Amino acid sequence: MRDIALYHGDDHGWIEVITGVMFSGKSEELIRRVRRALIARKRVQLFKSALDDRYAGARRISSHDGAAVEAIPIRSGLELAELAHPTTQVFGIDEVQFLDESVVEILTLLADRGARIIAAGTDMDFRGEPFGPMPQLLTRAETVDKLHAICVVCGSPATRNQRLVNGQPAPFEAPTIQVGGADSYEARCRRCHEVPSATRDQTTLLDTLMAEPAHARVLTAEAVRKG
Ligand SMILES: [Zn+2]
Repeated sequence: MRDIALYHGDDHGWIEVITGVMFSGKSEELIRRVRRALIARKRVQLFKSALDDRYAGARRISSHDGAAVEAIPIRSGLELAELAHPTTQVFGIDEVQFLDESVVEILTLLADRGARIIAAGTDMDFRGEPFGPMPQLLTRAETVDKLHAICVVCGSPATRNQRLVNGQPAPFEAPTIQVGGADSYEARCRRCHEVPSATRDQTTLLDTLMAEPAHARVLTAEAVRKG
Protein backbone atom coordinates (compact mmCIF):
# COMPACT_ATOMS: atom_id res chain seq x y z
CA MET A 1 0.00 0.00 0.00
CA ARG A 2 1.42 3.33 -1.02
CA ASP A 3 1.76 5.94 1.68
CA ILE A 4 -0.23 9.14 1.64
CA ALA A 5 1.83 11.88 0.01
CA LEU A 6 -0.50 14.74 0.91
CA TYR A 7 1.02 15.74 4.20
CA HIS A 8 1.82 19.47 4.28
CA GLY A 9 1.59 20.25 7.98
CA ASP A 10 -0.75 20.19 10.93
CA ASP A 11 -3.26 22.69 9.54
CA HIS A 12 -3.99 20.91 6.26
CA GLY A 13 -6.85 18.47 6.55
CA TRP A 14 -8.00 15.83 4.12
CA ILE A 15 -10.11 12.69 3.80
CA GLU A 16 -8.71 9.25 2.99
CA VAL A 17 -11.18 6.46 2.22
CA ILE A 18 -10.19 2.80 2.41
CA THR A 19 -12.93 0.85 0.64
CA GLY A 20 -13.66 -2.40 -1.19
CA VAL A 21 -15.31 -5.74 -0.51
CA MET A 22 -15.53 -7.46 2.88
CA PHE A 23 -12.46 -9.56 3.80
CA SER A 24 -10.19 -7.29 1.73
CA GLY A 25 -8.19 -6.00 4.69
CA LYS A 26 -9.75 -2.54 5.10
CA SER A 27 -9.68 -2.60 8.92
CA GLU A 28 -6.09 -3.84 8.90
CA GLU A 29 -5.09 -0.96 6.63
CA LEU A 30 -6.95 1.52 8.85
CA ILE A 31 -5.16 0.13 11.93
CA ARG A 32 -1.80 0.36 10.12
CA ARG A 33 -2.35 4.05 9.33
CA VAL A 34 -3.63 4.84 12.84
CA ARG A 35 -0.63 3.07 14.36
CA ARG A 36 1.72 5.17 12.26
CA ALA A 37 -0.10 8.33 13.36
CA LEU A 38 0.40 7.28 16.99
CA ILE A 39 4.11 6.68 16.36
CA ALA A 40 4.23 10.22 14.93
CA ARG A 41 2.71 11.38 18.26
CA LYS A 42 -0.46 12.69 16.66
CA ARG A 43 -3.56 13.09 18.77
CA VAL A 44 -5.83 10.33 17.43
CA GLN A 45 -9.47 9.39 17.96
CA LEU A 46 -10.79 6.12 16.60
CA PHE A 47 -14.48 5.37 16.04
CA LYS A 48 -16.39 2.36 14.78
CA SER A 49 -20.02 1.73 13.95
CA ALA A 50 -21.93 0.38 16.95
CA LEU A 51 -23.60 -2.03 14.49
CA ASP A 52 -20.34 -3.87 14.03
CA ASP A 53 -20.43 -6.43 16.85
CA ARG A 54 -17.78 -8.74 15.46
CA TYR A 55 -15.37 -7.51 18.09
CA ALA A 56 -16.39 -7.69 21.72
CA GLY A 57 -15.94 -4.39 23.53
CA ALA A 58 -13.75 -1.58 22.31
CA ARG A 59 -10.96 -2.29 19.88
CA ARG A 60 -7.59 -1.06 21.08
CA ILE A 61 -4.85 -0.04 18.69
CA SER A 62 -1.39 0.49 20.12
CA SER A 63 2.01 1.33 18.72
CA HIS A 64 5.27 -0.30 19.81
CA ASP A 65 6.27 2.72 21.87
CA GLY A 66 3.21 2.34 24.10
CA ALA A 67 0.81 4.90 22.62
CA ALA A 68 -2.69 3.49 22.37
CA VAL A 69 -6.18 4.43 21.25
CA GLU A 70 -9.51 2.69 21.75
CA ALA A 71 -12.31 2.55 19.17
CA ILE A 72 -15.41 4.40 20.37
CA PRO A 73 -18.71 2.86 19.19
CA ILE A 74 -21.04 5.39 17.49
CA ARG A 75 -24.45 5.19 15.81
CA SER A 76 -24.44 8.35 13.69
CA GLY A 77 -22.36 11.18 12.31
CA LEU A 78 -23.85 13.55 14.89
CA GLU A 79 -22.68 11.25 17.68
CA LEU A 80 -19.19 11.42 16.20
CA ALA A 81 -19.41 15.23 16.20
CA GLU A 82 -20.41 15.23 19.88
CA LEU A 83 -17.50 12.99 20.84
CA ALA A 84 -14.88 14.64 18.61
CA HIS A 85 -12.26 16.45 20.65
CA PRO A 86 -11.19 19.90 19.34
CA THR A 87 -7.49 19.02 19.58
CA THR A 88 -7.71 15.71 17.72
CA GLN A 89 -5.46 15.69 14.64
CA VAL A 90 -6.37 12.29 13.18
CA PHE A 91 -9.82 10.69 13.11
CA GLY A 92 -10.11 7.01 12.18
CA ILE A 93 -13.58 5.56 11.46
CA ASP A 94 -14.22 1.86 10.80
CA GLU A 95 -17.35 0.40 9.13
CA VAL A 96 -18.34 3.92 8.08
CA GLN A 97 -20.94 2.55 5.60
CA PHE A 98 -23.27 1.75 8.52
CA LEU A 99 -23.46 5.41 9.59
CA ASP A 100 -26.09 7.85 8.32
CA GLU A 101 -25.60 10.55 5.68
CA SER A 102 -24.74 13.16 8.36
CA VAL A 103 -21.29 11.56 8.68
CA VAL A 104 -20.35 13.03 5.27
CA GLU A 105 -20.93 16.61 6.41
CA ILE A 106 -19.28 16.04 9.80
CA LEU A 107 -16.13 14.50 8.30
CA THR A 108 -15.98 17.26 5.66
CA LEU A 109 -16.16 19.93 8.39
CA LEU A 110 -13.44 18.21 10.44
CA ALA A 111 -11.17 17.96 7.37
CA ASP A 112 -11.86 21.62 6.53
CA ARG A 113 -10.70 22.48 10.06
CA GLY A 114 -7.41 20.72 9.45
CA ALA A 115 -7.98 17.16 10.66
CA ARG A 116 -6.81 14.08 8.79
CA ILE A 117 -9.72 11.69 8.28
CA ILE A 118 -9.15 7.98 7.64
CA ALA A 119 -12.47 6.27 6.91
CA ALA A 120 -12.80 2.56 6.14
CA GLY A 121 -15.98 0.95 4.82
CA THR A 122 -17.40 -1.31 2.14
CA ASP A 123 -18.70 0.65 -0.84
CA MET A 124 -21.40 -1.81 -1.95
CA ASP A 125 -24.23 -3.60 -0.21
CA PHE A 126 -24.90 -7.31 -0.87
CA ARG A 127 -26.80 -6.39 -4.06
CA GLY A 128 -23.83 -4.55 -5.53
CA GLU A 129 -25.58 -1.20 -4.99
CA PRO A 130 -23.88 1.85 -3.35
CA PHE A 131 -23.89 1.53 0.45
CA GLY A 132 -25.28 4.38 2.59
CA PRO A 133 -23.00 7.44 2.78
CA MET A 134 -20.15 5.84 0.77
CA PRO A 135 -20.80 7.47 -2.66
CA GLN A 136 -20.82 10.97 -1.11
CA LEU A 137 -17.75 10.21 0.98
CA LEU A 138 -15.81 8.75 -1.97
CA THR A 139 -16.55 11.88 -4.00
CA ARG A 140 -15.27 14.21 -1.28
CA ALA A 141 -12.16 12.20 -0.41
CA GLU A 142 -8.67 13.31 -1.45
CA THR A 143 -7.52 9.70 -1.74
CA VAL A 144 -9.40 6.44 -2.27
CA ASP A 145 -7.90 2.97 -1.97
CA LYS A 146 -10.17 0.20 -3.23
CA LEU A 147 -9.01 -3.15 -1.90
CA HIS A 148 -9.93 -6.58 -3.24
CA ALA A 149 -10.40 -9.98 -1.65
CA ILE A 150 -10.30 -13.34 -3.44
CA CYS A 151 -13.49 -14.77 -4.98
CA VAL A 152 -14.26 -17.94 -3.03
CA VAL A 153 -15.86 -19.51 -6.15
CA CYS A 154 -13.29 -18.93 -8.91
CA GLY A 155 -10.21 -17.37 -7.29
CA SER A 156 -10.38 -14.07 -9.22
CA PRO A 157 -10.05 -10.71 -7.44
CA ALA A 158 -13.32 -10.25 -5.52
CA THR A 159 -15.23 -6.98 -5.66
CA ARG A 160 -18.70 -7.99 -4.44
CA ASN A 161 -20.23 -8.93 -1.08
CA GLN A 162 -22.21 -12.16 -1.50
CA ARG A 163 -24.86 -12.59 1.19
CA LEU A 164 -26.02 -16.14 1.87
CA VAL A 165 -29.09 -17.19 3.88
CA ASN A 166 -28.97 -20.87 4.84
CA GLY A 167 -26.27 -21.30 2.21
CA GLN A 168 -28.37 -19.78 -0.62
CA PRO A 169 -27.87 -16.34 -2.27
CA ALA A 170 -30.02 -13.73 -0.50
CA PRO A 171 -32.75 -12.15 -2.66
CA PHE A 172 -32.52 -8.57 -3.91
CA GLU A 173 -35.55 -7.62 -1.79
CA ALA A 174 -33.87 -8.50 1.54
CA PRO A 175 -33.05 -5.53 3.82
CA THR A 176 -29.61 -3.99 3.39
CA ILE A 177 -28.62 -4.34 7.03
CA GLN A 178 -29.67 -7.58 8.70
CA VAL A 179 -28.98 -7.31 12.41
CA GLY A 180 -28.70 -10.60 14.28
CA GLY A 181 -29.70 -12.64 11.21
CA ALA A 182 -28.55 -16.15 10.40
CA ASP A 183 -26.93 -14.92 7.19
CA SER A 184 -23.29 -15.12 6.20
CA TYR A 185 -21.08 -13.36 3.67
CA GLU A 186 -18.53 -14.36 1.05
CA ALA A 187 -16.26 -12.28 -1.18
CA ARG A 188 -17.00 -12.90 -4.86
CA CYS A 189 -16.14 -11.42 -8.26
CA ARG A 190 -18.65 -9.74 -10.59
CA ARG A 191 -19.25 -12.98 -12.54
CA CYS A 192 -19.84 -15.20 -9.50
CA HIS A 193 -21.94 -12.64 -7.56
CA GLU A 194 -25.58 -13.84 -7.32
CA VAL A 195 -28.60 -11.71 -6.39
CA PRO A 196 -31.84 -13.52 -7.30
CA SER A 197 -35.07 -11.54 -7.44
CA ALA A 198 -38.66 -12.70 -7.30
CA THR A 199 -40.17 -9.41 -8.43
CA ARG A 200 -37.51 -7.42 -10.23
CA ASP A 201 -37.64 -7.54 -14.04
CA GLN A 202 -34.41 -9.28 -14.99
CA THR A 203 -34.56 -7.89 -18.55
CA THR A 204 -32.44 -4.78 -18.62
CA LEU A 205 -32.54 -1.95 -21.13
CA LEU A 206 -29.27 -3.29 -22.55
CA ASP A 207 -30.82 -6.76 -23.08
CA THR A 208 -33.78 -5.19 -24.89
CA LEU A 209 -31.59 -3.11 -27.20
CA MET A 210 -29.24 -6.01 -27.99
CA ALA A 211 -32.12 -8.44 -28.67
CA GLU A 212 -33.59 -6.09 -31.26
CA PRO A 213 -31.34 -5.75 -34.36
CA ALA A 214 -30.59 -2.17 -35.36
CA HIS A 215 -31.90 -2.64 -38.95
CA ALA A 216 -35.27 -3.71 -37.56
CA ARG A 217 -35.55 -0.39 -35.73
CA VAL A 218 -34.58 1.53 -38.90
CA LEU A 219 -37.16 -0.37 -40.97
CA THR A 220 -39.79 0.34 -38.36
CA ALA A 221 -38.96 4.05 -38.48
CA GLU A 222 -39.21 4.06 -42.30
CA ALA A 223 -42.48 2.22 -42.16
CA VAL A 224 -43.80 4.87 -39.81
CA ARG A 225 -42.70 7.67 -42.22
CA LYS A 226 -44.23 5.92 -45.26
CA GLY A 227 -47.35 5.15 -43.32
ZN1 LIG B 1 -15.52 -15.48 -9.19
